[in-house]
Amino acid sequence: MSTLPTLPSCGEPATVRIELYTADSLDACAYTCTAHLTHATAVSVRAGLDTQPIGMAPGTNRPCGYLHVFSTGTLADRLGPDHPRWCDRHDCQHRGQHRSRSRHVDTDRPEPFIVDVALVQALHPAAEPMVNLTSVAGIAAGSLVLSVAQARVLRYRLAHLLEVARATRNDGRWT
Ligand SMILES: [Zn+2]
Ligand SMILES: [Zn+2]
Repeated sequence: MSTLPTLPSCGEPATVRIELYTADSLDACAYTCTAHLTHATAVSVRAGLDTQPIGMAPGTNRPCGYLHVFSTGTLADRLGPDHPRWCDRHDCQHRGQHRSRSRHVDTDRPEPFIVDVALVQALHPAAEPMVNLTSVAGIAAGSLVLSVAQARVLRYRLAHLLEVARATRNDGRWT
């Protein structure tokens, strides 16, 4: 049975794309630098895949070690059970992380920042879920990643600060 290969990944720009086949189905593409081509091919063959190295399409930038699994291929099943239950399952390999749907932090009035919050989790098996806060103002964006424990404490800190803020509001003016 074929499995997902564990590719060498140095993170250098890939120069070769290796098409990975099971039987006649193109199931995935592995990206590798020239130095890791032999190694990447070997682990793919060991994973039960037929390999077909080809050049990079012009304008494509991928790091060495990047693996794209086609959702229509037979390898897609191998990814399935590994998603956390909150994951939106949208191209996690490509993003390098599982990610929940973003929750907009909406108020019912215009705000200078657009704020979203989501759960994220790196792909390695020991990874824990984290809370990712994103704030966008015009073209400037910032994001903040918290552990779940920190987010839990933050909830209480915020509740307290909001109480304090409310107490200092006087006749509609902040004092
Ligand atoms: Zn490499
Ligand atoms: Zn996922």
